[in-house]
Amino acid sequence: MENQTPKPKSNNHHLVLFPVPLQGHINPMLQLANILHSKGFSITIIHTHFNSPTKSNHPHFTFLPISDGFSKTKTSTEDAISHITLLNTNCVAPFRDCLARLLADGPIACLITDAILHFSQLVADGFGLPRIVLSTCSISSFLVFAALPVIQEKYLPKQDSQLESPVPEVLPLQVKDLPSMTTNDSEDFYKFLTNMVTQTKASSGLIWNTFSELEESALSQSRDLFPIPNFSIGPFHKSFPASSSTLLIQDRSSISWLDTQKLKSVLYVSFGSIAEMDRKEFNEMAWGLANSMQPFLWVVRPGFIRGSKWLEALPSGYAEKIGDRGCIVKWAPQQEVLAHFAVGGFWTHDGWNSTLESICEGVPMICSPCFGDQLVNAKYVSDVWGIGLRFEKGVERGEIERGIRRVMVEREGEEMRERILCLKEKVDVCLEDGGSSHQHLEELISYILSF
Ligand code: UDP
Repeated sequence: MENQTPKPKSNNHHLVLFPVPLQGHINPMLQLANILHSKGFSITIIHTHFNSPTKSNHPHFTFLPISDGFSKTKTSTEDAISHITLLNTNCVAPFRDCLARLLADGPIACLITDAILHFSQLVADGFGLPRIVLSTCSISSFLVFAALPVIQEKYLPKQDSQLESPVPEVLPLQVKDLPSMTTNDSEDFYKFLTNMVTQTKASSGLIWNTFSELEESALSQSRDLFPIPNFSIGPFHKSFPASSSTLLIQDRSSISWLDTQKLKSVLYVSFGSIAEMDRKEFNEMAWGLANSMQPFLWVVRPGFIRGSKWLEALPSGYAEKIGDRGCIVKWAPQQEVLAHFAVGGFWTHDGWNSTLESICEGVPMICSPCFGDQLVNAKYVSDVWGIGLRFEKGVERGEIERGIRRVMVEREGEEMRERILCLKEKVDVCLEDGGSSHQHLEELISYILSF
């Protein structure tokens, strides 16, 4: 079928995007930028100095840094909510000034900013510019975040005796699945969520990095809650890989190591760019992996183990014990790893990008969600889509050893693989001409051109 997408004209071809400066948010925003650029739009990325993207990987975009008030060395892990609150405060004036300068040079069709950056709605309103929101989490998670300020009093903080109780307002979640965040003040968390939801409702549209077939009922609920155009046009990384927006150097020796392994024999282990563990949990992880007797590729990001620079916390004699059966790297080319013939399972923290990347390669998961939307994603992976299992005891070597075998060698894992391969096929179809994501993208482009 011939592509009918109207082409942008000179007065509405310029889009300005602003990502949250964290790996899991930068990747989808830059992927979206590439998708829209391939449709004829010109792209300006406003970004903070903190975690600024590598400009040389995107010579076709204009990058404009703004001051964020963070020191270069500050990480966002200690108190994620205060970091987000600071972003929404510190960026107001620099972002407004930057937009004013851009507008003086020529028209802007619209802004596309991360849902977390709720402050940008009022700035956009001030200039009379439409703002479209990008949500980098699943629709189901976003709906839970939207409900949380209202239902939290009934269920939070979580009581041990209630963990298994269902939460009727956000079924199929149980109390244990409700998102939690590291914060010194949970009121700040609910205030932030309320602002995010209010300003998303006030925006001109909502882009989801997901596909309709995966989250059909959530998408229809979202259309009720956010009565603005909703576009589910993902998974983005199938069009533009995350490697160009990586903030850390991807160690390619992981791929040469995988080349030496047998078909679907390797467990890939990575907990993304933010999650941390204490030494005791890391020790349990290490022994669970070793005792499973399954080959593994393990990403241990510097900073992953609290109080350690890198691998000092590994038990003594560990490297000799695992020999060639394990490969440990600081950061991997994850999409390539998941697509590799040797990878048969993914032990993940269930960040939304990682979850989608695993679905797209048909790799069943073992879930160890750490915080935020990861708990909701893990629920869907294990109990709704049936494409993974979730560890229930935290990080405990016996459960890890058993879980790895269930996914990697037992019939249960085979069934998960069959189900995830069905989803993988649906992804391929949704991105083709006439597929749901393809259609929503066409609609998004027409919508932007109508401003
Ligand atoms: N990633 C990577 N190499 C690694 C681990 C992760 O390139 O060794 C990428 C991964 O492909 C994904 C992103 O980092 O695109 C992590 O995003 P996610 O939403 O899964 O988790 P977060 O880092 O936000 O917790």
